[in-house]
Amino acid sequence: MAEHEDTIFALASGGGRAAVAVLRISGAGSGALLDALCGRRPPPRRASLRRIRDGGGETLDRALVLWLPGPGTYTGEDGAELHLHGGPAVIEAVADALVRAGARPAEAGEFTRRAFLNGRMDLTAAEAVADLVEAESAEQRRQALRQMEGALGALYEDWSQRLLRVLAQQEALIDFPDEDLPSDVAAALNAEMAALAAEIGMHLNDDRRGERTREGLRIAIAGPPNVGKSSLINRLFARDIAIVSDLPGTTRDALEARLVLGGMVMTMIDTAGLRETEDRIEAEGVRRARARAAEADIVLAVHDARAPEEAAAVGSNAPGTGVVIRVANKVDLTPERDTEGAIGVSALTGHGLDRLRDALIVAGRDLTVRAGPPPLTRARHRAALAAALAALTGAMAEPSEELRAEELRVTLRMIGRVTGRWGVEEILGEIFSRFCIGK
Ligand code: GDP
Repeated sequence: MAEHEDTIFALASGGGRAAVAVLRISGAGSGALLDALCGRRPPPRRASLRRIRDGGGETLDRALVLWLPGPGTYTGEDGAELHLHGGPAVIEAVADALVRAGARPAEAGEFTRRAFLNGRMDLTAAEAVADLVEAESAEQRRQALRQMEGALGALYEDWSQRLLRVLAQQEALIDFPDEDLPSDVAAALNAEMAALAAEIGMHLNDDRRGERTREGLRIAIAGPPNVGKSSLINRLFARDIAIVSDLPGTTRDALEARLVLGGMVMTMIDTAGLRETEDRIEAEGVRRARARAAEADIVLAVHDARAPEEAAAVGSNAPGTGVVIRVANKVDLTPERDTEGAIGVSALTGHGLDRLRDALIVAGRDLTVRAGPPPLTRARHRAALAAALAALTGAMAEPSEELRAEELRVTLRMIGRVTGRWGVEEILGEIFSRFCIGK
């Protein structure tokens, strides 16, 4: 592949001024680049201080340099790292020198793409690298790290291997119907298909725990006007995010704010102030906001503590199917603070907000964290696995041996799509290798 012959480089550390900037280099030309820029290649995998010079011999920086010969590297290729002083002029000068010496700047994701193409990681691990870089909360970090280390890939790979065995036996039933295959082959095959279908089904039916962790929990706030919904959000976030325009009819979308609570990312959707309208654009904003709220994982159903009779109505009108937490606001205005199953708070004084945060954390944990096998983390995986399960279920019900084998191949291909490991050729090759022995 031509692109593979390029030697690429990129700033691996964040932009802007910093003490150190790390330039990462990958490709067959990495060693020669180091020779050109540093004069002498350092010993493999040993941080060494080198003077970095451009083609004209001018010193650009004194930096720690790492020579990382492949294939035991991130990308599987020869590579190098330059730990430069983190000023923009240094970075630019060294990048220029690298281009003059024959390297080119990497495209987004190109290092990880090469790692995948070189078999250093499967697609689920590559996606987890991106998730780990994006992780804002402890739970997102844990989940991404686990996936990057191959927990999800191993699960799917195990299913693939078991399906391959099933398919191999199925092919045997087709190819050698008259031979004396043990009579229990068909029964064992059915039992294994049923077991796999149950496992994939359970994985799909995980109530979106992994996806929720990765994307953040959605919290909607519901209740009649003026009960203090916007004030409550502002108070929870301790900044003014839910500023409502005073101009009537001003178009606004659902306001969203993210916070990290109990190690989880929570996105608060404020649909307060939404009203029926004739204005088409505003109506579209209202419709979108309602839809977002309807998908909420948790609904804060707010009522005025002085009007407890409102509470039931708020709860039953709460949007969507999320877990409902009842909140009685403005307890500062009522002498008796009997809030009947609701959490009594005051957005004005801050009373009860810790209890509300705790309730959010408990509900959030219940919706995300769970011990056991790694959860499904992406819609992409869900779609492919649902197709795999449909094909497997089809295979189980299929009376024709040939068509059943075909359904099993589709199942394998769909799971293979998630990890990127199994192309059709590999599947056929694997079966071929199993069946040509001695035949
Ligand atoms: P929303 O329509 O539900 O979003 O309600 P707002 O947040 O706009 O609040 C309506 C009014 O109630 C405002 O005048 C707030 O200052 C007031 N308010 C909100 N929370 C409290 C509270 O806990 N105690 C008191 N005394 N007033 C509050």
